[in-house]
Amino acid sequence: MLTLAFSVLLYFLPAIIGRHKRDASGIFLVNLLFGWTVIGWIIAMIWACASEDYGQVRFVEVPAGRRYCCQCGSATYPGAHFCTACGRTV
Ligand SMILES: [Zn+2]
Repeated sequence: MLTLAFSVLLYFLPAIIGRHKRDASGIFLVNLLFGWTVIGWIIAMIWACASEDYGQVRFVEVPAGRRYCCQCGSATYPGAHFCTACGRTV
């Protein structure tokens, strides 16, 4: 019984490793459907271990004193108490 549990754990190791990735469902499907062929398991393992391509992050310079509305995200004028877009208190 312990051997069976260990085998299942070993079989789904690529899916377990890649569970937090963006392609987690793809890794799981390749692991599930093609894992029994050793090549499919290796491909799933490589996919799970490969680094993720993160999207570019752009930094926007914010003028001093400017605040952003936590409801709609639009910028307000310095010293403003209400959002100009949605009217919520800033
Ligand atoms: Zn707003």
